[in-house]
Amino acid sequence: MRYGLAQVSRNHERGEILSIAFQIQTPWILLHQTIREVVLDYVEDHANGTVWSNSLIGLRFKMDFEKAMRMRNRLIERIQSHNHHTSFQEKRPEQHLIDMGIETCITFIQHPELQNLLAEGSIKRIELTKPTQYRKWKIYSAPDFIHHGPKGNSLIKLNLYGLPSRNNRERQAALTRLYGNLDSTVVLFSLKQRKWIVNRITPMNVQVQQSLDLVANDAEKMESILSLVGRNNDLSLIPLADSYRSCMHCNVRFLCPSQHGLEKAKAEQRALMCR
Ligand code: SF4
Repeated sequence: MRYGLAQVSRNHERGEILSIAFQIQTPWILLHQTIREVVLDYVEDHANGTVWSNSLIGLRFKMDFEKAMRMRNRLIERIQSHNHHTSFQEKRPEQHLIDMGIETCITFIQHPELQNLLAEGSIKRIELTKPTQYRKWKIYSAPDFIHHGPKGNSLIKLNLYGLPSRNNRERQAALTRLYGNLDSTVVLFSLKQRKWIVNRITPMNVQVQQSLDLVANDAEKMESILSLVGRNNDLSLIPLADSYRSCMHCNVRFLCPSQHGLEKAKAEQRALMCR
């Protein structure tokens, strides 16, 4: 929905507001996006022979996080200038988030598993926007790094928002393997309660195929839903959330039929569909 809407509604006033709304992230998400950027740059520089000190990591994190928060505030001001009453609030970067971000970057960089990978072989950063092709779809499941070592290739992926379930880790690893070869090992670094947990997975061909089938199934469903939106970003026929909890932090609530109550919007939608 996010990408589809931004594309179909590029020259439409409501579409522009939607696409700004989708760009606004919570400070919590910005914190984790900044952690990713800082550690990726660290590893890239390390591969080129430059090793950062902990104070440089701290400075870099603080600067980047403050910049991300300033940009967030600017996006909120843009939406407010269109006279939309949203729940977004401008915020200043909080010191405890900065401290948490710096600590998380340092514990990743000092993790023995990463240190082993950095100690031998070569490591290369992969842009997450680099897709692979499956049937008519582009699939974005790139690892953060590819490591070429004496024991083969490792595809390294960071999960910053918790430890996925075992099933989801296996599916994620299967799709990440599309960027390697049959023997590649996928190394997942997942952040859980401020600690890094490492899982090494070597996906089998059958798992890769099952994961691709699942993606294809989901993509088909998303395409059929997107076709209901139309050029005017009419969300009235789009299935609404199951629970009001999903709406509480939703970026597009102020444009959604559920802005005055989810149950009321669902009832109106049912009536519309029965016409
Ligand atoms: S406000 Fe609720 S129903 Fe509307 S798009 Fe967001 S999550 Fe879905």
